Amino acid sequence: MSRLTSLWISLGLFCAPPLLLLLLSPLLTGPVTHQLLNAKAREMLAYQAERNQVLEQDIQAQLLRLQFNCGAEDMALLRDTSYYSRHIRLAGIQPAHGKGCSTVGPALPLLTGIEETPLPLDFGLTATSSAIGTEQELLVYFKRAGNLAYWVLSNSWIHEILGRPCAECFYLEFTHHNPALAHLYFPRGNPAIVSQPHAIKLTNLDERNEVQQTLWAGMALRQHAAEQIRYFGLLITLPLGLLLAAGYGLLRNYRNSLEGLLKLGLQQGEFLPFYQPIVDSRTHEVVGHEALLRWRRGGDFISPGAFIDYAERQGLIIPMTEQLVRQVVADLTQLAAPQWVSVNLVAAHVERPYLQELLTRLHWPDPDRLTFELTERIPISDMKTAAREMANLGLRGYHFKVDDFGTGYGGFAYLQQLGISRIKIDKMFIDTIGTQDLKRSVLDAIIAFGHESRMEMIAEGVESQVQLDYLAERGVYLIQGYVFAQPMALVDVIQWRPPIKVARPVEQKRMNERPQA
Ligand code: C2E
Ligand code: CA
Ligand code: CA
Repeated sequence: MSRLTSLWISLGLFCAPPLLLLLLSPLLTGPVTHQLLNAKAREMLAYQAERNQVLEQDIQAQLLRLQFNCGAEDMALLRDTSYYSRHIRLAGIQPAHGKGCSTVGPALPLLTGIEETPLPLDFGLTATSSAIGTEQELLVYFKRAGNLAYWVLSNSWIHEILGRPCAECFYLEFTHHNPALAHLYFPRGNPAIVSQPHAIKLTNLDERNEVQQTLWAGMALRQHAAEQIRYFGLLITLPLGLLLAAGYGLLRNYRNSLEGLLKLGLQQGEFLPFYQPIVDSRTHEVVGHEALLRWRRGGDFISPGAFIDYAERQGLIIPMTEQLVRQVVADLTQLAAPQWVSVNLVAAHVERPYLQELLTRLHWPDPDRLTFELTERIPISDMKTAAREMANLGLRGYHFKVDDFGTGYGGFAYLQQLGISRIKIDKMFIDTIGTQDLKRSVLDAIIAFGHESRMEMIAEGVESQVQLDYLAERGVYLIQGYVFAQPMALVDVIQWRPPIKVARPVEQKRMNERPQA
């Protein structure tokens, strides 16, 4: 994937949540508006409950002590700060005889009409008169023997509550079911709402006070809801978009990292064997093959040098080998019997029962056709377990070779303790043939040791006829190397034939010199 494409994907992921929100916000506006209306109705009811309680307490307490003569005691009571509250604007008395008084001193002219209006009850509710277009206010009164006490209630709370969270967003109606109070109808808020399309309302009946309260909301609240959705929505979706884009970036980096790519490759079955034939130089017959791991990425086959060390360190070699062995077992049907295939193992395969478990899952493939090689480059740390594991597998007929023999430190120990009787002579030594390199004597020593210990020997990395001849002269005939063939895909290896054996002049001469029987 190109950098540009992933940049677009990141941008898309970043923008997706806010865009989705903007697309969905018309659908959310309705429910959110309802929610806001509900919350407002609850707020009003809670406020009213508290207000009623305070009013009842204060008014009753004052009533108990009023003399109804506007004397010093009454004035002190009216002005007692402990009765001041946000619910009562002012209070006053109109005695049966004499002048009235109020919290502010003299009787209020605005209230002079009260005593003339026939008040229906001894204790009840009425309203102040609407003078010069001012809002009427509720008034609680108490009447006894021609005396009157009154408390003008503050209505500013309604405006305060209705003005939140937005001005002109609500409309509130109180309808008194008691016919005596039916005239107390002064709605508050924005009256235009009632006639707006899609106006919504919530009704609450206070049965005790026989008053029905209807709260309306319309376009203004909808608009406020839409703004809130956008505001809070963006507050949430922008960081979410950022998170998604960052997450994608991290995932992409991870996938592009070797570990991520290897894991993805495993999931997608990208690891498969190439086969390098092992030829008997005496007959030019293919005796077997080494399975060499290749990573198929796109059209390329990546050699193990690029990833095998990392895969071994990360433990990924275990599932990789499993993928490889499964393929080898399937491919064996296409490789001419009795040719075998040798699979590279790492120490972990035998230090734990990984190999046993794998072979069990594969229903124990024919041990004459599936063999293993274990490099001595990486030492086995748990020799005991490895020996036990390999002995168990040996009982099942499986064979092991020591790979890269002579390059590490464990070669001879492996042979003795792990009971291995096959070695692969490393290319490093083969390369010394025909040179003055000191390691050539090591090669000779290895070959001599191999013969003495009756080891089966395979020479690896044989590239030239000179090397081939040198090895043949020293009795090493199993050859793996470019002199015959490079590793190939299955389709190629099943068609590959070694060149026909032609007796070379040296061999011809030897044959001719042989004494006749
Ligand atoms: P190796 O096990 O020593 O395998 C032999 C390597 O030498 C192979 O390289 C092979 O292609 C190469 N080779 C064979 N003949 C010649 C030759 O004549 N000339 C030259 N120049 N090279 C020759 P390859 O396939 O790149 O594998 C490299 C190493 O990766 C292997 O060395 C082995 O250690 C490791 N490897 C390969 N497949 C696996 C696997 O399935 N599991 C494990 N654990 N390691 C693997
Ligand atoms: Ca090998
Ligand atoms: Ca080797």
